[in-house]
Amino acid sequence: MDTTVKGVVLKTTEYKDNDKLLTILTLEKGKILVKARGVKKSTSKLKAFCQSFCFADFELASSGAGYVLTGVNEIENFYNLTTNIDKFSYAFCVLELVDKICAENQEYISIFIDMLKTLQQMTKDNVDCRLVLCKFILSLLNHEGFNINLNKCSNCKSPLVSDLYFDLNRGDVLCPACKALDSIILEKSVFSALKILSGCDFDRLSTIKLSNGIIEKTLSFLVKNINFKYEIKINSIFL
Ligand SMILES: [Zn+2]
Repeated sequence: MDTTVKGVVLKTTEYKDNDKLLTILTLEKGKILVKARGVKKSTSKLKAFCQSFCFADFELASSGAGYVLTGVNEIENFYNLTTNIDKFSYAFCVLELVDKICAENQEYISIFIDMLKTLQQMTKDNVDCRLVLCKFILSLLNHEGFNINLNKCSNCKSPLVSDLYFDLNRGDVLCPACKALDSIILEKSVFSALKILSGCDFDRLSTIKLSNGIIEKTLSFLVKNINFKYEIKINSIFL
């Protein structure tokens, strides 16, 4: 039976001579794999849409246990993201993270919505893509139940004031008295940046003013955290 889903292409894989296999995160069905037949031929009408970042209504037909692409109505192609190497690498990292974290055929409505907000913010010239990626990683951690408590030591519940530590195993902030042997130091500036980002919506990220060094350190901290959680290696240039 034919169906239409709203989705973003996360990844494309070569498949047979003229076909591609699309990995799409959809609003309605979560992450799905879709066969796009004949789209490597120059005459294919669907060719232009079978690329990462394409946000569209995808028309699908069921085929065995999977789907076959029958039509596309493009909503946005985020073309601007692919014309700037910096923007592209941060935006690509977003797709990579979503692909690795989302399992097939499970709903991820909140992640889908935040991914779209993230890509939309990244197209803007007055927003630092690194801050958008930080915000996206924080929101991913929240949606997956790994939110970082930034109010008190997660062990003794005392307020977080002076030296702070972070336990990668538990994903918790700890005070000096509770830190474990393998806890890492969480710099106060990074802690403050995390607080600011947590309390800021995607569409207000352009108002955040942080130094280059603090943005780099905060991104590096969050990438380390999410890599540790999911045992994935997202782009090592961020570490
Ligand atoms: Zn404590």
